Amino acid sequence: MSRKKLVAANWKMNGSSALVNMISTTLQSIAPQVDILICPPATLLSAFPTAHAFQLGGQDISAHVAGAYTGQISAELLLAAGARYALVGHSERREYQFETDQLIAAKVATAVAAGLTPLLCIGETLAERQQEKTEQVIAKQLAAVYASHPELLQKSVLAYEPIWAIGTGESATPEQAQQIHAFIRAELAKYDADAAQQVKILYGGSVNAENCAALFTQPDIDGALVGGASLKPEEFAQICLSA
Ligand code: PGA
Repeated sequence: MSRKKLVAANWKMNGSSALVNMISTTLQSIAPQVDILICPPATLLSAFPTAHAFQLGGQDISAHVAGAYTGQISAELLLAAGARYALVGHSERREYQFETDQLIAAKVATAVAAGLTPLLCIGETLAERQQEKTEQVIAKQLAAVYASHPELLQKSVLAYEPIWAIGTGESATPEQAQQIHAFIRAELAKYDADAAQQVKILYGGSVNAENCAALFTQPDIDGALVGGASLKPEEFAQICLSA
């Protein structure tokens, strides 16, 4: 099964119109063999030039379609601003915004219903890994979304982001990541065997220009979700070219 790689940038609460221009120019000058996705803060989505060789995504999405939900952003608003993807369930939202598996499942369903591709983030904490609970935690995160709605899998992209590797400079090794990616694909096959083979599973957590190539050689790693290094246009371009 050959799956086209996807390299995604998660700018988190960073960026500026200057960075929008720099990244757009830098990515225009390379001809990557991969798909590229940029998830800037929502206020910057419409600052991107309309013609660009990459996709845009939101960093979150409301589970609601519209209405009295101050501060939230709907799928329809993201689409209107040019986004085609939305991150869902990033660990920083699970932790700081207290997002539950149930809310995250509702967000994935809302994104798919509106025609946005959800990029569902899953992963374990350091304590969970040390207690050898990684697979249990991930199985639960996946079941919450796909057990009762397996049809959502065909329309999803996933990212395995071990929380201990995010922003720490300590990436999972390619072998550690591959082991969990294979586990994720096997779990997903319980819900839809064909979709499990086709779904892209990105790795995220301290990906940089040095460690990305080895990660990309692993059979079940279909790209990367890049935080810190995605704010440096040259380095991000290098990661795209390595995929
Ligand atoms: P990082 O962030 O690359 O800075 O570790 C990844 C993420 O949180 O998506």
